[in-house]
Amino acid sequence: MMNDSDPHPSCASVVDRGTVYLVGGGPGDPGLLTLRAKECLEQADFVLYDQLVSPRVLDFIAPAAERLCVRELPGTHPERWPHIHRMLIEAALLGKRVVRLKGGDPFIFGRGGEETEALREANVRYEIVPGITAALAAGAYLEVPLTHRSCASALAIITGHENPAKGHTHLDWEALAKFPGTLAIYMGIARLPLIAAELIKFGKDPDTPSIIVHKASTGEQLSVQGTLTNLEDRRRENGIDTPALVLIGPAVALRPAISWFEQRPLLRQWVVVTRPQEQGAPMMRRIEQLGGVPFHLPAVEIREPIDWTPVDRAIEQMRNRHYQWLVFTSVNGVKSFFGRLFHLGRDVRDLGGLSLAAIGPATAQALREYHLHADVIPDEYRSEKLVEELRDRVRGQRVLLARADRGRELLHDQLAEVAEVEQVAVYSQIDAIDTKSEIFDHLRRGEINFVTLTSSNIAKAILRSFDETINGRIHRGDIKLVSISPVTSGVIREMGYPVAVEAREYTTEGMIDALVRFAEEQMGTGERQAG
Ligand code: SAH
Repeated sequence: MMNDSDPHPSCASVVDRGTVYLVGGGPGDPGLLTLRAKECLEQADFVLYDQLVSPRVLDFIAPAAERLCVRELPGTHPERWPHIHRMLIEAALLGKRVVRLKGGDPFIFGRGGEETEALREANVRYEIVPGITAALAAGAYLEVPLTHRSCASALAIITGHENPAKGHTHLDWEALAKFPGTLAIYMGIARLPLIAAELIKFGKDPDTPSIIVHKASTGEQLSVQGTLTNLEDRRRENGIDTPALVLIGPAVALRPAISWFEQRPLLRQWVVVTRPQEQGAPMMRRIEQLGGVPFHLPAVEIREPIDWTPVDRAIEQMRNRHYQWLVFTSVNGVKSFFGRLFHLGRDVRDLGGLSLAAIGPATAQALREYHLHADVIPDEYRSEKLVEELRDRVRGQRVLLARADRGRELLHDQLAEVAEVEQVAVYSQIDAIDTKSEIFDHLRRGEINFVTLTSSNIAKAILRSFDETINGRIHRGDIKLVSISPVTSGVIREMGYPVAVEAREYTTEGMIDALVRFAEEQMGTGERQAG
C-alpha cells in the first residue's frame, strides 16, 4: 500500500496486496497481452489460470509466485467454480496479490461476471484488466475485417455451446440468421453442423462465406475457409479441433487467400530452444514472431565459479597494470567478470589501458553495455579465428582470459605459444536438463520439428539426454538438429547424431536465419495454408 506521508511513494509495486486482478491473457501470442496484464503477472503472489491460457503468457509470472491451473482443482468443470471463488477470496484475505488469469477477455465467455459477483459479496477488492478476445485475434490474424462498410455493419459474439435444437437456448437463431454483419462463434466446434443448419433454416444464404480457425495468433494457427454448407466437412478434412473460432458473414470473403500471419516462415514448426534459463527469451520471441512454436528446455545452468580467489587475484593484478589484454569468449563471461569487479567495490576504471578482445558480436555487445569497445572481434565467431586475430597482437604480452570452467583449451594453448596467458573461470556451467519436462513427451511423439543447439556444451548435455529417449527419431529425420557453428556440428557428429541445419553466421540470429532458409526450402509457403 502506498503511504501518503511518504514524500517519495514507492512505485515498486503497482499491484496491491489483498486485491484480485481479473486479467485477460489474450488469445495466445504473448505480444498481445496488455501492459497492465504484464504488470499484474510480474507482481502477483498467486496466479490462478485457465487451461486455455497460453503457456508463453505464464512466462511473465515471477518465479517465486505460486501458480495453479484450474484443471488441477478437484471435480468436473462446473464443480470447480465454488472452489475457484473460495481460493480467490481466501488468497486475497491473506493479503496476497492475486491474479485470476483467463484466455482472451475475462468478460467474454470467461465467467468473469460470476467471479466479480463472488468477490463483491466477500468484500474483496478487485480490478478488471481486459484482454484481446479470440474474435478480434481471429479477425486480425486471418485478415477478416470483422466490420466493413460494404457488407458488415455489426459484429456478434456468440456462444456455440448451447444446443440450438433444444428448447432452452438463450440465443435467437432466427434473429442471428438476419444479423447484418459478422457472426463470431466461440466454443462452436461440437455443434457446428447444428448451428449451420439452424441459420440456413431461418433464411441465411447457405453460401455465406465462413471460416474456422484453431488457436488464432499462435504458431499453431490453422484455418480453413468454406461456406455455411461445407465448413464442417472442410474442418474435418483439415483436422481442425478445439479451441477454434468460427466467423460467418460476407466480410470473410474479403480476406486474401493467405493472411500476413499465415505467410510466416516457421508457421507450425515446433522449435526447442536450449539456451540457459535467463537467456532464452529473445530467441523464443524471435521464433514466435516468425510463426514458430517455441519450447524452452535449458540445457545448462550458469552459476558462480566454485572459487572466486583466482578471479579476485587477477582483478588485483589488472589494477596493477599487469596485463595488456583481456579476452572474453562469451556474454556470460563478460557479465560474470564485471559482476565480480563491481561486487569488489571496483569499476571499469580498473581496466585502464587494457586492450579488449571479444570472440563474437554478442560478446562485443555485452562489453558495449559497460561502455567498452572491443578492439578485436574476429569476423567469424570461433576460437580459431580469435587466435588468428590475436596471435601477432599479443606476442610477448600478458593476456587474461576470462571464461567458463569448462570448454575448449584451444585459445589458451595457442595463445600461450606466443604470450603469457592466464585463464580464470569467471562462471561455472553445469548440466541442467529437466528430464521430466513435457517437452520430452513432445519429442517422443515426434511433434518437435527442430532442436537448436547453441554451443558445444549445450549440444553435449542435450544429446546425452536424447540418447535414451528419442535417438531413433533424430536418425529417421523426424526431429532435426540445428547447429550454431562447425565446432558444435563436430561435437554433434562425434556423438553420433546428424546435423540438419548449420548456421552460416555463428550467432543465435545466424542460426535462426539458417532455420528459416531451411524451412522455406523444405516447404513452399503456400502448402502450409490448409484448404
Ligand atoms: N474469454 C475467451 C473465450 C473463452 S471461451 C476470449 O475472450 O477469447 C473458449 C473459446 O474461445 C474456445 O472454445 C474458442 O472457441 C475460443 N478461443 C479462445 N482462444 C482462441 C484462439 N486463440 N483461437 C481460436 N479460438 C479461440
